[in-house]
Amino acid sequence: MITPETEPSGRPGPERYRALTRANIAKTAQWEAMDADLREAVDVVSRVLPFRTNAYVMDELIDWADVPDDPMFRLTFPHRDMLDDGAYREVRSLVREGASREAIEAEANRIRLSLNPHPAGQMTHNVPMIDDEPVSGMQHKYRETVLFFPGQGQTCHAYCTFCFRWAQFVGLEDLKFSSKEVDQLVAYLREHPEVTDVLFTGGDPMIMKTALLAKYIEPLLDIESVRTIRIGTKSVAYWPQRYVSDADADDCLRLFERVTHAGKHLALMGHYSHPVELSTPVAQEAVRRIRSTGANVRMQSPVIRHVNDEASTWRELWTRGVSLGAIPYYMFVERDTGAHDYFQLPLWRCWELFREAYQRVSGMARTVRGPSMSCFPGKCHILGVTDVGDKKAFVLEFLQARRPELVRRPFFAKFDPEATWYDQLRPLTEADRAYFIAPDESAHEPLELTVSAGRPNGATGADGAALN
Ligand SMILES: *Cc1c(COP(=O)(O)O)cnc(C)c1O
Repeated sequence: MITPETEPSGRPGPERYRALTRANIAKTAQWEAMDADLREAVDVVSRVLPFRTNAYVMDELIDWADVPDDPMFRLTFPHRDMLDDGAYREVRSLVREGASREAIEAEANRIRLSLNPHPAGQMTHNVPMIDDEPVSGMQHKYRETVLFFPGQGQTCHAYCTFCFRWAQFVGLEDLKFSSKEVDQLVAYLREHPEVTDVLFTGGDPMIMKTALLAKYIEPLLDIESVRTIRIGTKSVAYWPQRYVSDADADDCLRLFERVTHAGKHLALMGHYSHPVELSTPVAQEAVRRIRSTGANVRMQSPVIRHVNDEASTWRELWTRGVSLGAIPYYMFVERDTGAHDYFQLPLWRCWELFREAYQRVSGMARTVRGPSMSCFPGKCHILGVTDVGDKKAFVLEFLQARRPELVRRPFFAKFDPEATWYDQLRPLTEADRAYFIAPDESAHEPLELTVSAGRPNGATGADGAALN
């Protein structure tokens, strides 16, 4: 067990953040108590998919009586089945024979590259330009919203095993997004007044000390066209002390106040994956303190098999959030990267889960949208499964699209009980083809959509010719 820091008075002081990784996990009592086979599996897989956690997650969120099935354990520690048999055995023999760090790393990199480290054309398609120069550390995919990856915020308080950002954490330099260039961000925003929202993401921007975070955020407060600043963060769940007892917690709240007093909407986009993350007094206090600055907390997470694949879990998450004043925002489908074979669920099942949970909450929690896939053309919302004539189909729409004209037009895909991601879906009719856009097709050619009876290109769905 990690002993709390002691103050000169001899009393335990506030818990100080310290990362736990493969390098120092063996010093914890929980690791020592763990089954030897389980320990070896975690050790082996973490050579490829590293873990990082902290004493708060270990002591307060994981229920060790329920390990290895405990959802927070699954969220924190890699599992044997995340690698295929061949890859697992290869790494395990290197570890067992005491191979050099370089040899293990070389094998790990080979395996990582087979895990689709950068899905959805993110690296190539959304990079903004200033004076014909690509700007690194930024993505501009949807007209109103720019993503910014502050260079100093490219790690997290703890890694989630499912996270699509895993490639950033494993030292593959050319796969890394980063930017120290807040000047470029400001210049870009001044040139693009259509951008109303800046979303700080990472990694996790809240890993930064307040003084550093302020250097990124304050310059935006003078830009009239920026209305909303969002910060995507797992810290509210994995290290809520950031807002309560860290040395600069109060400074952080003062920074948030400066944002809201400047007339901007500030939203902490909290990555809450399980209701236990909102169960501790410090997690609840963090939400209370953030909201006291005029900022909002919104909740989003993917559906993750082994972690939150029951409707009651989502219902509990949303209702607990709403009682604390956090606003349910998105339920995502797990992306097609990393250990997705381990975490994914069929799309129809994600929809069923969503529906079951949504049915059982009041309108206050029905601000949530999903399940949604962040894929190349946009955020694809699974509206449901239905019969179109004699064909079973998915009903879909884009909530966000790189082509705004695609937003909120229902379309159909052939039902496929196995499908776990957008690119496995096929258009149901000729008219639905317009919605299936791959990264290698030009993203900027204007689409010709003519609407008849609510559907583009005159398709009627029910009697439209089904494609093979
Ligand atoms: C989700 C997302 C956004 C934000 O979209 P909103 O609909 O404004 O929440 C922006 N950029 C990318 C790439 C996204 O995936």
